[in-house]
Amino acid sequence: MSASLPLKERFHLPDGVIYLDGNSLGPLPKGAEERLAKVMSDQWGTNLIKGWNVDGWMAQPLDVANRIARLIGAPENSVVLGDTLSVKVYQALSAAVRMRPDRKVILSDTGNFPSDLYMAEGLIRQLGQEHELKTVAPEEVIDAISEDIAVVMITEVDYRSGRLHDMAAIAEKARGCGAVLVWDLAHSAGAIPVDVTSVGAEFAIGCTYKYLNGGPGAPAFIYVRPDLVDHIDPALSGWLGHDTPFAFERNYRPAHGIERMRVGTPPVLQVAVLDEALKIWDDVEMADVREASIRLSELFIAEVESKCTDLKLVSPRDPNMRGSQVSFAFEHGYAAMQALIQRGVIGDFRAPNVMRFGFTPLFLDDEDVKAAVGILADILDNRLWDRDEFKTTNRVT
Ligand SMILES: *Cc1c(COP(=O)(O)O)cnc(C)c1O
Repeated sequence: MSASLPLKERFHLPDGVIYLDGNSLGPLPKGAEERLAKVMSDQWGTNLIKGWNVDGWMAQPLDVANRIARLIGAPENSVVLGDTLSVKVYQALSAAVRMRPDRKVILSDTGNFPSDLYMAEGLIRQLGQEHELKTVAPEEVIDAISEDIAVVMITEVDYRSGRLHDMAAIAEKARGCGAVLVWDLAHSAGAIPVDVTSVGAEFAIGCTYKYLNGGPGAPAFIYVRPDLVDHIDPALSGWLGHDTPFAFERNYRPAHGIERMRVGTPPVLQVAVLDEALKIWDDVEMADVREASIRLSELFIAEVESKCTDLKLVSPRDPNMRGSQVSFAFEHGYAAMQALIQRGVIGDFRAPNVMRFGFTPLFLDDEDVKAAVGILADILDNRLWDRDEFKTTNRVT
């Protein structure tokens, strides 16, 4: 049974706050604090090292990842948790490149998140500079896929503008050209319907602290197509990806299945929080989340365009071409966002001039959207952003 949205009562949301940044860091789910406290006292505090077995800590990166598998159309035991998304990019990309030894080009787009591109650059240096990272404009990706391309590395939703790639079309072209697809779901998992199986992606990766509400530092996930995984040669060949880690063999032998993408000791406390956070997906349908997200973002755009005429929409106007965020350009966007945050409306800012607002229907409704735009209009109409306190740039924007 699907519950009706929003489910505000399932989250801790401070009074007076309208949170439009669940795309960057999801809020604290109810039950997570208690779960963490219990794991600390009843497991770590009581069972000490026995927790790896009696409390199932060692199996959790696979067990908990099965909750994510259901959200992204992946079969059971084809997803595993660990590390951060940047590390998972490296793992997927290095494995993908090794699948096409006779090809030397990694294709991505200029809208991709910098860390993904930086990791590709680092991998290329590691491989002796024989490869090339080619980035084209997002709308040119499909045409740029050719038989020279080893790997197509695409983040489905643009972190700045919310623009959505047509992954089925990209995957089809890649398949036709024999290129391997690495699909980054950072702003997709928990935001829009995803089906890695029907798209046929070889690799998918994502983080869990954005729309999946796993909390700051929550582990990332990686999917490898089940028919390929036993042929993958892991670059990060850590002991927990070994077939028999506790045999302490002298040489690395990869585990069977997705567990070969594990590296080292899992973050047990974070995995427990994530497990609790993912329970909400037992009660909601992704299609309902998507429908509500489109309704909220359409309302937001209409309200902003009628009340805040200095702001210019930089996200695609067609909701089917957007993920779950909406961005507006404004010359004084940084200061305006600071003023907005001080008034309790939390979005974020991406250089050079983008005010970014995430719509997470698990805890937002139409009234929140209207109230947020009312405050934004007040700040703009009265130039309330024009103060020194709002103009010093923080380390994290
Ligand atoms: C959020 C995000 C990241 C962040 O990577 P971490 O290693 O988790 O810090 C990487 N790539 C994309 C596309 C993202 O949206």
